[in-house]
Amino acid sequence: MPQAQIIDGKVTAERLRAEVAAEVAELKARHGLQPGLAVVLVGEDPASQVYVRSKGEHSLAAGMHSQTHRLPAETSQADLLALVRQLNADPKIHGILVQLPLPKGLDEKAVIETIDPAKDVDGLHVVNAGRLAQGLPALIPCTPLGCMIMLRQTLGDDLAGKRAVVVGRSVLVGKPVAQLLLAADCTVTIAHSRTRDLPAVCREADILVAAVGRPQMIKGDWIKPGATVIDVGINRVPFSDPVKAAQGKTKLVGDVAYKEALAVAGAITPVPGGVGLMTVACLLQNTVTAAKRIAGIA
Ligand code: NDP
Repeated sequence: MPQAQIIDGKVTAERLRAEVAAEVAELKARHGLQPGLAVVLVGEDPASQVYVRSKGEHSLAAGMHSQTHRLPAETSQADLLALVRQLNADPKIHGILVQLPLPKGLDEKAVIETIDPAKDVDGLHVVNAGRLAQGLPALIPCTPLGCMIMLRQTLGDDLAGKRAVVVGRSVLVGKPVAQLLLAADCTVTIAHSRTRDLPAVCREADILVAAVGRPQMIKGDWIKPGATVIDVGINRVPFSDPVKAAQGKTKLVGDVAYKEALAVAGAITPVPGGVGLMTVACLLQNTVTAAKRIAGIA
C-alpha cells in the first residue's frame, strides 16, 4: 500500500529557527539592531505557560531581546492595556504577543486592537488582517505562515491552479490560511460547520488544510489520492489502551484520521511533530520582519 510522505515539522522548524538566528546576527552586526519580542501571559493556564516559556526560550536562543510579562489572573483590563501601550512605546520591543485565551472578564479584541499593528507579531490586528486580505505586506498569523512554508517545501513555490480546501474559518487559522492560498493563486474553498457534504468537498482538494478542532474527523476516504494534507488540529484525547485511559493518560491527535490518511495522501503533516512546531519558529520570523520594517531595513 502506498505511504504518504511525512512532512516533518521538527526539521523544518529547526531550519527556520537557524535562518532567523543567522538573520538576527546579521542585523546586529550590520545595523546595530537587535529584534525584541515581548510576550504577555495573564493568569496560570497550564498550556499557555508551556507556550510562553517556549517562546521566551526560543527568542533568546535566536539572539533576540526577550521579555516575558506574567500578570495575575485578576489583572484589570485597564492595567493590561497600560502594559500593551508601554510595550508599543518601547524602542527595544518590535514584537508584542499577548497569549490567548485571556482569563474571563478581559476583552481579547480590545487588547489586540491596542497593540501597535507594526508590532502585532501574531497578525491578529484588523489592520494586518485587512492588509493580508488586500494583498499588501502584513504581519501574518504564525500558524498559517507555518502551513504555507510546509506546503511550499513539499510542492514547490508554484501552487497556482491547485484546488485547495480549508476546513475551518477562524480568524486565527482558517481565514488567513485561505487568504494565503488565494494569494498563491490556488482555487480556494473554505468549509465550516454548515458546509453540506463535507467529505465530497474535501475529496476535491489537491491541498487539504484541516483546522477544525475535532479529533480525527477527516477520514481517509475524504482525501483525494495523492493530495497534500496539512493537519493543524491539536486535540487531547484519552488513550485507546484501556489501562492507560484508566490512569487518565491522554495523547495528542490531529483533525485527520492519520493512519487512514497515510495510505491515501501524497504527503501529510503528523500530529504531534507537524504544524504545531512551526508556530514558534514563525513567531521569531515575524519579529525579525517587524524589526526590519520598523527600522526601515528592506
Ligand atoms: P476554532 O474553534 O476557532 O474554529 C474551528 C472551525 O472549525 C470553525 O470555523 C468551525 O466552523 C469549524 N468546524 C467545527 N466543527 C466542524 C464540523 N463538524 N465540520 C466542519 N467544520 C467544522 O478553532 P481554531 O481555528 O482556533 O483551531 C482549529 C484547530 O487548530 C484546533 O484543534 C486548535 O487546537 C488547532 N490550532 C493549532 C495551532 C498550532 O500551532 N498547530 C494553532 C492554533 C490552533 P464554524 O465557523 O461554522 O463554527
